Order: sequence, then structure tokens, then C-alpha cells
Amino acid sequence: MSRDELDHRVTNNTMLTCKQASQLISQSLDHPLSLSNRIQLRFHLFICDACSRFRKQLKQIGIALQRMRQLTENDDSITLPTKIKVRIIDWVASKHL
Ligand SMILES: [Zn+2]
Repeated sequence: MSRDELDHRVTNNTMLTCKQASQLISQSLDHPLSLSNRIQLRFHLFICDACSRFRKQLKQIGIALQRMRQLTENDDSITLPTKIKVRIIDWVASKHL
């Protein structure tokens, strides 16, 4: 579901489903949500422990990935095996990126 479709669906319903809430949580990591989506998500998180845990876990994963990146990006001793490089190049080529 595209961001616009989700925006439209969410703003036309007063109560988010857990699926919609989890999609908004994921999207919020990449870019700011609209005001109406933020309000609806906050309300959903207030009443839903499962989505609150999901949000917390995603944040923790993001922090861990950021730490890992900081530790590894300037370490020249870390290299990818050629076999892995070829797989990545093939995957990117298959996606026409
Ligand atoms: Zn939920």
C-alpha cells in the first residue's frame, strides 16, 4: 500500500487497525507523518500494548544498526567476500536500480 493510499484510508477511519498502525510506525522511521496520522497513531499506541512494543523494538533495531554502522564504516579491515559482492551486484542489477 502506498503512503497516499494509507494516508487516505487512515484519515477516513477514526480508529486504526494494528496493521495500519504498524505501517505508520514503519513509515515514521523514514519520514514525518501527517498531523492526523500522528494523532491517530498516538491514540492507537495509548490503547495497544502490542503496537507499542512493536514501535519500541523497531526503534531499538534502528539504534543497534546505527551503532553497528558507526563501528564498521571506518574500519578498513572489514571487507566483504567476493562471493557476497557478486550476489549483491546481481541482486541490484535484477532490481534495475
Ligand atoms: Zn495495535
